[in-house]
Amino acid sequence: MRDDIQSVLISEEEIQEKIAELGKELTEEYEGRFPLVIGILKGSLPFMGDLIQKINTHVELDLMDVSSYGNETVSSGEVKIVKDLNTSVEGRDVLILEDIIDSGLTLSYIVELFRYRKAKSVKIVTLLDKPDGRKVDLVPDTAGFIVPDEFVVGYGLDYAERYRNLPFIGILKPEIYEG
Ligand code: 5GP
Ligand code: MG
Ligand code: MG
Repeated sequence: MRDDIQSVLISEEEIQEKIAELGKELTEEYEGRFPLVIGILKGSLPFMGDLIQKINTHVELDLMDVSSYGNETVSSGEVKIVKDLNTSVEGRDVLILEDIIDSGLTLSYIVELFRYRKAKSVKIVTLLDKPDGRKVDLVPDTAGFIVPDEFVVGYGLDYAERYRNLPFIGILKPEIYEG
């Protein structure tokens, strides 16, 4: 699996260091508030698993799975809920965890949905941010790392459902895409 990686963009150590930092900030922010921490499947799973262990105050966890309508290249911004939350967001401090924000279409839909469902507050923490890919005006409250407009894999991020279990973020060799 690691032979398929051309270069490591963000190392395991850098990721874990950043997560410890984020955990500290979130502990201070949410102390005594019992936020609902929502991971967006499947990409946020490693990030969520590591980050929640660094948040030293009570949190409730939930998961949501969404997919974009239409074909892969032209996202309409219409999002289909594949798995909805088990928990009501009404009156809750919601913290959304995402692997990467590219166009911003997925998260802007989700944020709107949570506001419609009367969340008390909605914050977005993303591990990676690709601001050059943006199609809507969406700014995360916190981004771990800014990445260039290149396709990255690892630490939750897949190519054809593979590579999510790499502990670092990397770029694939071109021959992997070319088959
Ligand atoms: P968007 O912000 O465009 O609505 O969607 C972001 C989603 O597209 C991410 O959650 C992720 O699933 C996928 N995505 C965007 N950029 C990349 C990338 O560089 N690598 C991988 N593996 N997925 C990406
Ligand atoms: Mg995602
Ligand atoms: Mg994917």
